[in-house]
Amino acid sequence: MNYVFPLPPAVSIPVHGTEQRFPVRRIYCVGRNYVEHAKEMGFTGREPPFFFMKPADAIVYVPHGETGSIRYPLGTSSLHHEIEMVVAIGKGGEKIAAADAAAHVFGYAVGLDMTRRDLQGEAKKAGRPWEIGKGFDQSAPIGPIHPVSKTGWMEEGEISLLVNGKLTQQSTIDKLIWNVAETIEHLSSYWALAPGDLIFSGTPEGVAAVVRGDLMVGSVSGLGELKVKVA
Ligand code: MN
Repeated sequence: MNYVFPLPPAVSIPVHGTEQRFPVRRIYCVGRNYVEHAKEMGFTGREPPFFFMKPADAIVYVPHGETGSIRYPLGTSSLHHEIEMVVAIGKGGEKIAAADAAAHVFGYAVGLDMTRRDLQGEAKKAGRPWEIGKGFDQSAPIGPIHPVSKTGWMEEGEISLLVNGKLTQQSTIDKLIWNVAETIEHLSSYWALAPGDLIFSGTPEGVAAVVRGDLMVGSVSGLGELKVKVA
C-alpha cells in the first residue's frame, strides 16, 4: 500500500495466560453506573444508562507485576481516577437482549477511566460533548484481558483503588446500576457492537484527583492489579 505516511500501530491487549492478543476496535464507557458515584457527582442514580467513548489509542497497556506510567495530561489541573471493570466484546451484534449478552463477552480487565474533571465539568455546564474531559491521550490504562472461560461470568467481587497506599475507591461489582448484560443490551440498541470493542462499565464512589508522582493501584477480584504512576 502506498500510504502518505506510515499506518498508525494497531492497538491490542494481551490475553492473560495465552500468547494471544485482543485487538481493540472501540472503547465505550458507561456514565454514572454506581449509585454512590452518581450521588457524589450530584445525581440521584435513577436514570437510564448513557455512554461516551474514548479513542482506541488512549489505551496504555500495563502488564501484571509492572508499574505503568501516564503523562499528566495537557490542559487540566484536576486529573481524576475512576477504577472500572472493563468488558471485552468477542462477538458483535446489535439489539442484543440481556439474556443473550453472555455469548458476546470475550473477557474482562481492570481499567482506569482517567478524567480531566475540570474540563468535563465545564463541558457539562455548557451542554458540550465530554470528549475533552474523557477522550484524551493515555486516558485508558488497562491490564491484560482475562478470558471469561477462566473468570466465569462477573457479577460480584470487589473493585478498589489505592493511591499511594491509601484506599480511595472501594465497592463491589454487584452494585452496578446496570449490570454487564443490561449494559450490552442498552449499548447495542444504539451501536452495532463488534469484536474488539471494550466497555468501561462505570466507576464506584471515591473518585478524586491525582498529581504528578502519585501511584495508583487498582484491582477487581479475579482480574489482578493495575499499577499506574502519574509521571
Ligand atoms: Mn467512568
